[in-house]
Amino acid sequence: MSLPQDLAALLSSEQVSTRSADLELAAHDESACPPTLPEVVVWPQTTEDVRLVVRYAYERALALTARGAGSSLEGNPIPVRGGIVVDLSRMDRVVSVRAEDLQVTTQPGTVYNDLNDQLKAYGLFFPPSPGGSSDVATIGGMVANNASGIYSVKYGGTRDHVKAATVVTGTGAVLELGTRSRKTSSGYHLLGLLVGSEGTLGIATELTLSLVGLPQGRKQGAFTFPAEKAAVTAIAAMMRYGVDLAAVEFLDRRSIAALNRFQDFGLTEQPSLFLEVHGSESAVEEVFDTAQSVCEERQGERILLPGGRNPWEIRHFTTRAIQALNPHAKTIRTDMGFPISRLPEVIDRSYAIAEHYGLVLHTFGHAGLGILHALLREDPADEQRWATANRAKDEMVAYVLSLGGTASGEHGIGLGSQKYVAQEHGAALELMKGIKRVFDPKGILNPGKIWP
Ligand SMILES: Cc1cc2nc3c(=O)[nH]c(=O)nc-3n(C[C@H](O)[C@H](O)[C@H](O)COP(=O)(O)OP(=O)(O)OC[C@H]3O[C@@H](n4cnc5c(N)ncnc54)[C@H](O)[C@@H]3O)c2cc1C
Repeated sequence: MSLPQDLAALLSSEQVSTRSADLELAAHDESACPPTLPEVVVWPQTTEDVRLVVRYAYERALALTARGAGSSLEGNPIPVRGGIVVDLSRMDRVVSVRAEDLQVTTQPGTVYNDLNDQLKAYGLFFPPSPGGSSDVATIGGMVANNASGIYSVKYGGTRDHVKAATVVTGTGAVLELGTRSRKTSSGYHLLGLLVGSEGTLGIATELTLSLVGLPQGRKQGAFTFPAEKAAVTAIAAMMRYGVDLAAVEFLDRRSIAALNRFQDFGLTEQPSLFLEVHGSESAVEEVFDTAQSVCEERQGERILLPGGRNPWEIRHFTTRAIQALNPHAKTIRTDMGFPISRLPEVIDRSYAIAEHYGLVLHTFGHAGLGILHALLREDPADEQRWATANRAKDEMVAYVLSLGGTASGEHGIGLGSQKYVAQEHGAALELMKGIKRVFDPKGILNPGKIWP
């Protein structure tokens, strides 16, 4: 029998496809990395389905790539060695909410916003909201990329909330990792290895997450600044003084202009901070006032967003708005993470590098976390400019690495950031490869990712 026939016999024919539309969808993500077609796509519905498929692939040493929504930005779910794409999107059931323990157990295909919609009834939420993809990103994909978002400043990234997982390793073994206890000192932290492993160590089929209560009070605001450096200096100061912000997002002047062009938001085209504070009604006012004073000391001016809009409705479209400026171009983006005090220098250096090469740069990000995305839009057909833009990106990343930072604050390494891993991890990279062999001795899980 053929590969699709074998898989249909293991699962059911409705769970297996070789239709070109399905293969094409599974071939790419949201990055500029070239797509690769898999041979077949399967949609498991249970842990047992995943186990059967992995076991089959293990016996034949076939490549197997897990997929959530395919919203990654570094080529993470692209099946570069073909084989089988295991699309988890039909495993989208919230299994149980244990409100008294502030925990939820869910299948991996649940979409971030859908999970939070269901948690509202319990007065709870899962906070690491990915800025522009919260409406599509699955919990499995967020865990595999260790995603973060606008509320991570206060509540942490995905890793901080993963308590337990059911995982199928590269041999088809089913493991229960972690515990529902809030704290454990028992054994190696294998669960921590799974988070951020980009589907290279195991396929998660059930995830238990810790939650937080919906805030009693919240206050949002926006500030404009005369220059990018002033805006990020205010963020670095607020973080240093311990101003208890739930979210603080930076958008440079060009990103704001792109948003206006995208949807006519009517924003003042200056470098801006959007922020939000959570807590009791009185605490929220106090913290917001402190934040406002810090911004004003650095030439920030409080503005009302046109139409009294929620800043996150606007922020959500940033990446798409920049892409829409020149739809034929593709994006070269950094996902730099660095110590927060260096934020002003990173901004300065990024613009200096772009200017040196005559490139147009857009910057934005969860700057309170010390994460900055610098986006360059170029047409890959213009080989010289494409190479120049990549050189500029390399220089920006090398700079943050020299500051003790990271090439990936939240998007993962995938394909796009592989060239930086040796510099960032040094000898530890060999240890990572050894860990990969323990979980996945035949190297079938998302092969070709994280390191070249
Ligand atoms: C407009 C836009 C804005 C974004 N903003 C943010 C942001 O603010 N913060 C942020 O962190 N990211 C952001 N992203 C990136 C992306 O949305 C996140 O990384 C997201 O978590 C990916 O989820 P996904 O379901 O699309 O996963 P996919 O892209 O399908 O997969 C991601 C990785 O996880 C693996 N995988 C998927 N499911 C499983 C599973 N069940 N078990 C094991 N491995 C699995 C895949 O093999 C792949 O390596 C943004 C993307 C876009 C397009």
